[in-house]
Amino acid sequence: MFHEIVTHADGSTGHGTATEAYALSLLRKAVRRDCRMEATRTGGIVITRDLWRGRVVPDHHIVALEPAKPVNRLTPAVRRDLEAVLAAPDAYVVNQAEQPFRARVGRLWARFVSLAPGTVARLVEGGLLVLGEPYAATSNGFLSEQRRPVRVSLAARLAMGAQAHRTRTTEPNGYVHAADIGLPPGSGRNVGQKVLVYDASSAVGCSCRSWSKMAEHRDVARLYVREHREQMTRELVV
Ligand SMILES: [Zn+2]
Repeated sequence: MFHEIVTHADGSTGHGTATEAYALSLLRKAVRRDCRMEATRTGGIVITRDLWRGRVVPDHHIVALEPAKPVNRLTPAVRRDLEAVLAAPDAYVVNQAEQPFRARVGRLWARFVSLAPGTVARLVEGGLLVLGEPYAATSNGFLSEQRRPVRVSLAARLAMGAQAHRTRTTEPNGYVHAADIGLPPGSGRNVGQKVLVYDASSAVGCSCRSWSKMAEHRDVARLYVREHREQMTRELVV
């Protein structure tokens, strides 16, 4: 479940709750409409739609979704467990089993990975894993077993994405020697004995290490960073 805050173009706000299915349909619609969207580290998302209405500057319609249970910082171990479940669409948790398979009860199976009942309970309690309806299966081909499908929650996927993409922009150098940034001597302005130019450029990078860029100005750098995080969020949804 998500808390939903809608901010209308006129500045008025509305509060509500959204199920995960509703949140997902909202995200898919936002992708189709090419809205700006950014996942938050706590598993939420902010969707901004520009309403032009024939003006030079658009009005904004903003929908912010925040999970009822905000996601904490994901440890490498938790991230590894969630990735195992993401990679296994047929992952399940054993709900009931007969002897000698009782020890399977509460365990999660995701292809070659198995998680202990305590770990599974913590991930479900924290809102990171979601269990589906029970179905009948067998432990060894003939002893009956009841299982529940398990998947990674939308909030967990958003948080995983946002936490994996910690972006940064560097402080511009400010006044530097012309030659230091490859400009010919004589460009720039005289400060005492030295010829200095203003270097406003800013480097941008991301903790995912798949991406880095130079921007001629820090404002542009911030724009690059936002574009990268938005692209990442889109990929999570489609
Ligand atoms: Zn990144």
